[in-house]
Amino acid sequence: MLEQAIRETQESIASACERCGRSPESVTLIAVSKTKPLSMLEEAYGFGMRQFGENRVQEMCEKAEAFGETPITWHLIGHLQKNKVKRAVAVASLIHSVDSAALAIEINKEAAKLGKCQDILLEVNMAEEESKFGLTADGVLPLVQELAILDNIHICGLMTVAPYTENPETNRIYFKKMKQLAVDIAAQNIDNVSMDILSMGMSGDYEVAIEEGATHVRVGTKLFGERNYIQ
Ligand SMILES: *Cc1c(COP(=O)(O)O)cnc(C)c1O
Repeated sequence: MLEQAIRETQESIASACERCGRSPESVTLIAVSKTKPLSMLEEAYGFGMRQFGENRVQEMCEKAEAFGETPITWHLIGHLQKNKVKRAVAVASLIHSVDSAALAIEINKEAAKLGKCQDILLEVNMAEEESKFGLTADGVLPLVQELAILDNIHICGLMTVAPYTENPETNRIYFKKMKQLAVDIAAQNIDNVSMDILSMGMSGDYEVAIEEGATHVRVGTKLFGERNYIQ
């Protein structure tokens, strides 16, 4: 089951890349393993998965510890509170969910203590949904300019969580706007800032996201099945 889901997802990523003239290597599949037991992650690892996404710091750290020295790239994709930054920075390769100066400054501080430069993405609420975290599109460039001077973070790009929808085509406009926003920011040539990563697309809409330029897709349900939050 899991193996087949992984293969199918990889194949559909390759097809989406082909449709828009991109190389399949230009897209990283992040297996979103939140709420799933370690045994499932181990199984996915056995089938070649090396990039895992978690939305809670505690859960990410516990799973990372269980994997020990195994070479896994951990992505923190969920909302991050300042009091959890220290533990997040110790484990996460990429923090996708930075949406305020205060949070970025805290990450910079904790990364400095570890002698690390923390890769981060700025989370953008492209559809301006009230229920969602993230910056407005207009808020991104001013924040990038403010944060660019920090030595222990590196802004690598943008992340968005598009609205839940039955029809992925309705999210295409948000992915398109994200890509354009990244292009506009990259054109400013700000030191210590790159816009190489566009983290967008989930189980329901990752193929459309790839067609619009996603470099990282975050897929949970399609790989691991529905989540049960009541545990
Ligand atoms: C849970 C989650 C995902 C994965 O969602 P699926 O629809 O299960 O693929 C992706 N991104 C974020 C930020 C999430 O919290």
